[in-house]
Amino acid sequence: MYQMTIGGSPVPGAGTFEVIDPATGEPFAQAPDCTPDQLDQAMNAAAAAWRTWRRDDDARREALRRAADAIEAAADRLAPILTAEQGKPLKDARNELAGAVVWLRYYADLELPREIVQDDARGYAEIVRRPLGVVAAITPWNFPITLAMWKIAPALRAGNTVVVKPSPYTPLTTLAVGELLQQALPPGVLNVVSGRDPLGARMTAHPVPRKISFTGSTATGRRVAAAAADDLKRLTLELGGNDPAVILDDADPEQIADRLFWGAFGNNGQICLAVKRVYAPERLHDDLVEALAVRARSVRVDAGTAEGAQLGPLNNRPQFDRVAGLVADALRDGAVAAAGGAPIDRPGYFYQPTILAGLGDGTRIVDEEQFGPALPVIAYRDLDDAVERANAGDYGLTASVWSPDLDRAAQVAAELEAGQVSVNVHGLGVRPDLPFGGHKQSGLGVENGPWGLYGFTDLQVLTRPAKP
Ligand code: NAD
Repeated sequence: MYQMTIGGSPVPGAGTFEVIDPATGEPFAQAPDCTPDQLDQAMNAAAAAWRTWRRDDDARREALRRAADAIEAAADRLAPILTAEQGKPLKDARNELAGAVVWLRYYADLELPREIVQDDARGYAEIVRRPLGVVAAITPWNFPITLAMWKIAPALRAGNTVVVKPSPYTPLTTLAVGELLQQALPPGVLNVVSGRDPLGARMTAHPVPRKISFTGSTATGRRVAAAAADDLKRLTLELGGNDPAVILDDADPEQIADRLFWGAFGNNGQICLAVKRVYAPERLHDDLVEALAVRARSVRVDAGTAEGAQLGPLNNRPQFDRVAGLVADALRDGAVAAAGGAPIDRPGYFYQPTILAGLGDGTRIVDEEQFGPALPVIAYRDLDDAVERANAGDYGLTASVWSPDLDRAAQVAAELEAGQVSVNVHGLGVRPDLPFGGHKQSGLGVENGPWGLYGFTDLQVLTRPAKP
């Protein structure tokens, strides 16, 4: 029985909706469907709890530590729920929960120095960061717990209270974490609601929250921004990406293939910052395609519960259809599947890890975010041209440059329009202490580090004359 958490109590929905196991394509659980009245109750409970929660930073730090301990202790119970609803292998589900613990402890321990601008014979001026109030947090289905915790941990530490809504594809682990954390937090500080859309739109239009922290697609992000405009809610948007990896001509395909492959195929490609397209010099193109294809053919794709599974199914039917459609389009346009290229013939949303060669810009799978296990490798002749193509499009989330010459790689990295650029690895900058956020239409604002926490505050200037 999965229940919502409102004002510290477990609450069933007035109705329920089915949650599907992507490894079978069959429903395996019911989740509560939040009514508008219940959403009001959650928002009001968060607003009431905020009055005291915002006052005591030490108490908040202690509560975050208790929350981390609680998740750590429950990880073996929670990981199978995450695997069942999301599809990822059990060890990845455990890693995701371990990450939540790291994030909670990071924010509990984060030292925030007072920002005293002036304290002299003429006067005193201090910058104070004040919590906003209630935060509405909305998450997608690829990393339900990681992405919820990127919001919950800094929002609570800063002194806000939270109403979080997971994706209707993956509501269960977040609901279970919401119930679990009531042992660590005062009632109303963290509320979890679940439901089918338009629950998300109702949250963004609701008058109580002062901030929306949203992770999801760019299309939905635009709707969230429009809704926030009505009463000028604060906004952080973590959106889509079409993240390029640019290979320089002195790279060794065999040496980089493992890291490049996992930069693209981790979580079955369903990572906002996964490598989504590779630009390879003509001279290296064939060798790199083959090195990646060897890995794609040998990786073990299976149900997340199966021993030794490295990749699971895609999370949901629309995403499975989208990836299958993008690959079919590319093959019709003349691309060659060096590995994969088709669904796996079994129930559930399994797709062959796919490496595509012989295609260029103007193909949908190159120009759009595929968010799945299919990677196009594009040959280039001129590096400046490759950089320009890597920067084309509306996204700017992450990018990587690959070369043994670190200075040269850094020069190319400086040309790339992305919130994070890494060298000889992809996505190394995802850490609690580094800001994560997209340029261009990949987002607005950042999460993580002190910068992420500041996003849950408004500045207040406190001034007075000098003490007599
Ligand atoms: P989505 O935009 O369809 O849904 C995200 C969340 O928004 C869900 O909880 C959904 O129920 C809710 N929602 C739907 N309509 C809404 C509305 N009008 N107002 C408010 N909320 C609404 O995204 P998805 O398919 O769940 O996730 C995949 C996308 O998320 C990809 O584009 C991926 O790149 C992106 N993503 C970004 C990051 C990042 O940090 N930048 C991380 C993970 C995923």
